[in-house]
Amino acid sequence: MTDIETAIATDNPASVPETGITPGGTTGAFRDVLSRDHARRGKPPLHFADMTPEQRIATAAELGLPKFRVKQLANHYYGRFDADASEFTDFPAAKREDAARAFFPELIHEVTRQVADDGATIKTLWRLFDGSLIESVLMRYPTRTTLCISSQVGCGMGCPFCATGKLGLTRNMSAGEILEQVRVAARMMRDGEVAGGPGRLSNVVFMGMGEPMGNYRSVLSAVRQISAMPPEGFGISARNITVSTVGVVPGIRKLAEEGIPVRLAVSLHAPSDALRDELVPMNRRFDTTAVLDAAHDYWLASKRRVSIEYALMRGINDQAEHARLLAKRLNHYGDDWAHVNPIPLNPIEGSRWTASKPEDERRFLDILHAAGITATLRDTRGQDIDGACGQLAAKGRDGRA
Ligand code: SAH
Ligand code: SF4
Repeated sequence: MTDIETAIATDNPASVPETGITPGGTTGAFRDVLSRDHARRGKPPLHFADMTPEQRIATAAELGLPKFRVKQLANHYYGRFDADASEFTDFPAAKREDAARAFFPELIHEVTRQVADDGATIKTLWRLFDGSLIESVLMRYPTRTTLCISSQVGCGMGCPFCATGKLGLTRNMSAGEILEQVRVAARMMRDGEVAGGPGRLSNVVFMGMGEPMGNYRSVLSAVRQISAMPPEGFGISARNITVSTVGVVPGIRKLAEEGIPVRLAVSLHAPSDALRDELVPMNRRFDTTAVLDAAHDYWLASKRRVSIEYALMRGINDQAEHARLLAKRLNHYGDDWAHVNPIPLNPIEGSRWTASKPEDERRFLDILHAAGITATLRDTRGQDIDGACGQLAAKGRDGRA
């Protein structure tokens, strides 16, 4: 086992590599995609969302505040999406500034907001405490509103068609940094800041920047705090949370053991090892058989249908033979356990890959349907603001990442 696999298996903080490098990051093919300064960066400030109940009580005690004040803070944060303690009028005025400093340091600062689809899609660029840039995308649909969040600064997995992969990994995000994206979006929805009037954030997908399984501990802590009912969490059902992975098998297996009914999405993109080795470098560590076995076991354990993500690339993985092999490999495990999500490739700058021809997309879907597999083409919301799948590269105002 590598360090990160051991860390995932044992959940032992001592074994988590200091740098937070994702599997494969320290060796072999992934080394060259790491940012050079990852090890020099410090940890984000500790936030209410990062603290255990005991830590919260101890921090309150240091400020001379009794335990019930912690519950009050939790009601503000999780129940009302408020993190500005200076405005907590039910809190002793003399202690508000102390509480703000000790519990609610600003973890994510809005740099820019881009709007598309007549206001129904909003991409926000955030600056973190160390100057790192990340993005999240809010998408309102008639019956649900989905927030796509980032879990790492960059990504070390090196998928060549993905803008985030081009950045390499800078660092893991803390649970607080992940959760703050959700709090702000939930608040925007409640306050009617998204076209369509006041509403509710209903879904969260870990499909922004980063590989969630490379930051397992913080991602899981965030999942728990998104799904718990207030005042322990934001009360967004775990069934409406999707964790998308490039196929880090120990992470999938560990997630299955947690017994949380989150939806698992697996980025397959190719039905054979020969092709997937090229498109998803992580395949050399965990191959298609290992990934599909783990995905199917997740279905058995959770009874939640697994999403198989498949970015359609013109002439590369979108031909009839690919669809037939994909159908065969999924049906090998039985019926109805997976749902295929073909994603029209979103072009990224300087990439030699382009989106499939519409007739090839259609044929791909038809072959899957004829083989009894449910498959729906993913929409490409936010494409014109570089907010669609794989386009998140946290470009600053000057256009550079
Ligand atoms: N790292 C995780 C989650 C973030 S990526 C993962 O890979 O699953 C979210 C999804 O967008 C993945 O399925 C990813 O493969 C896909 N994706 C990446 N680049 C893309 C692009 N240029 N066009 C379409 N989908 C892309
Ligand atoms: Fe990382 Fe996912 Fe992009 Fe691959 S597709 S580089 S795993 S964010």
